[in-house]
Amino acid sequence: MKRIVILGPPGSGKGTQAKLISEKYGVPHISTGDVLRENISKKTKIGEIVREYIERGELVPDEIIIKITIDKLIEAVNVSGGYILDGYPRTIPQAEALEKSIIKPEIVIDIKLSEDECVRRLTNRRYCPNCGEVYNMLLKPPRENEKCDKCNVKLLQREDDREDVIRRRFKEYYNKTKPVMDYYRSIGKLVEVDGGGSIEEIHKRILEILKFT
Ligand code: AMP
Repeated sequence: MKRIVILGPPGSGKGTQAKLISEKYGVPHISTGDVLRENISKKTKIGEIVREYIERGELVPDEIIIKITIDKLIEAVNVSGGYILDGYPRTIPQAEALEKSIIKPEIVIDIKLSEDECVRRLTNRRYCPNCGEVYNMLLKPPRENEKCDKCNVKLLQREDDREDVIRRRFKEYYNKTKPVMDYYRSIGKLVEVDGGGSIEEIHKRILEILKFT
């Protein structure tokens, strides 16, 4: 399997797991959240448009995200023969657009984790503003308190990892993203994985799934 989508609620560990699979399978990790944040930090036109949605914890409009993502996936497939996609699709129109494309996924992995555990993980998440490495003060703490292991720079918290914004992101998830699981289940592509435990434990569960598909 070389075209893989990874879904799950905010804080379920999608990004961490996608990165590990990307290293293992040699396919690029494409995170729509990272792509949007990069546009914001580079002050592009798209960055200007999407900034307020992200700050409010709302999904950005489908017409913006669909084109950016499909273009990136086509490039990934042309260069590396596959992708591990994290953070997309988050709505039914996004899923349908991907399914209609020439680079549709072969498997969709849904990481299952309770809202309370996700919130606990998100409020403990930190990132390095220099290299982008993501830490978790509970699951993957830096060696020195709140400093990046590689850059020695003070770690920051994402603006949208504040508790009030997290709750809004969950509302969006239940209203718009949950139906995406049913969609993939109905076409036989969905595989669920328990998102509890350590990073290594979840990674092993995902590798087992990928081995047998
Ligand atoms: P993430 O890094 O995946 O948690 O995404 C951060 C934020 O980016 C989300 O809360 C949304 O505002 C926006 N975003 C990322 N991916 C999508 C998507 N596929 N559709 C709409 N909005 C998205």
